Amino acid sequence: MTPPVPPTSGPDRDPVKFRVLLMFFSAGAALAALALALPDREGTWPALGRALLIGDGLGALGALGLLWWARRRPPLARFDLAVLLLAQGCTLGGVLGETLLLGTQYSVMTQLWITVFAAGFLPRRMVWAQQLVGLASVTLMVWVRARYGLNPPRLWLVEALVTAVPVLLTGVAVAYFRGVAEREARALERAVRTDPLTGLGNRRALFDAFAGRGPGVGERTGLVMLDIDHFKGVNDRFGHAEGDRVIRALADALRAHAAPGDLLTRHGGEEFVWVTSAADGASLLARVDALRAAFARGAGLPGVTVSAGVVTTGQPHPDLPGLLRRADAALYEAKAAGRDRALLAS
Ligand code: GH3
Ligand code: MG
Ligand code: MG
Repeated sequence: MTPPVPPTSGPDRDPVKFRVLLMFFSAGAALAALALALPDREGTWPALGRALLIGDGLGALGALGLLWWARRRPPLARFDLAVLLLAQGCTLGGVLGETLLLGTQYSVMTQLWITVFAAGFLPRRMVWAQQLVGLASVTLMVWVRARYGLNPPRLWLVEALVTAVPVLLTGVAVAYFRGVAEREARALERAVRTDPLTGLGNRRALFDAFAGRGPGVGERTGLVMLDIDHFKGVNDRFGHAEGDRVIRALADALRAHAAPGDLLTRHGGEEFVWVTSAADGASLLARVDALRAAFARGAGLPGVTVSAGVVTTGQPHPDLPGLLRRADAALYEAKAAGRDRALLAS
């Protein structure tokens, strides 16, 4: 009964993820090239340092190639683990390479890129695993600098902590922002598919449901279009607020008579659409009549009735505009025949 809400992650967010990764890996490759080009080579293991930096640069270029290839095969989430491992390998190789070749460790903060990427885009479990790996990685980097770099810190563990904690907290903050943004996006998605007066779905919910798989696939689908009789008169005689209450009474009657999984929408004004699975037209007509009787009792005003047009189909992916047209024609006939009735579409 709740209008369906599309997910906030998946292929829709792929372009954003792709651009962020493109930026990080391009910058990583450029940094590796810069470190290899710098003349001040005061590291203690230059050959190993150079090899690590070349590996970092080639890894980053390989990751860019993988991304380019994967872009045509969404969702990118399928490549999350490969991208994460490549990124962590490149970062560790790059920072250690710089330390061993140049003796410095200017690039230690590139570890932040992985943290930000993971916290911003990866599934929750992967985020926490990455945070632990990030902690270990920073600790190892600082230890290597203490052992083999220039100006080794005396309290290397303190420096490791002071470097790792901001990286960790940045990840926590990004994951937190992301959680809030995703919750807000879901609430908005729900709101744009919900009718504020009745809490049922609106037209968008109806069309979106059929744009996807469509309800009742594999079974017979029934669609009922309901319209309150002489509703203008209700507003004129009892006032608009009372009219609103009658509209809500029909929504309540629909909720009470719908089966789990049915789609209930307010189509506009005092008109509703109910999509349900129906074995045949006659049994659905009987359910609609029971609903109409309940509404007439629940509306609490004398002579307030509702008419309905009913259509059923065994089509696997029913065409919504076609169903609506047929239900509307049956509703028109019900109105013309004196209202307060439900008719099956021919
Ligand atoms: P019929 O039996 O042929 O359906 O007659 P009707 O008067 O119900 O038909 P019509 O469609 O002409 O009137 C619908 C009225 O519903 C007109 C409009 O003012 C009123 N209406 C539309 N939306 C709302 C709403 O949200 N609240 C209230 N109170 N009235 C509404
Ligand atoms: Mg109407
Ligand atoms: Mg009406």
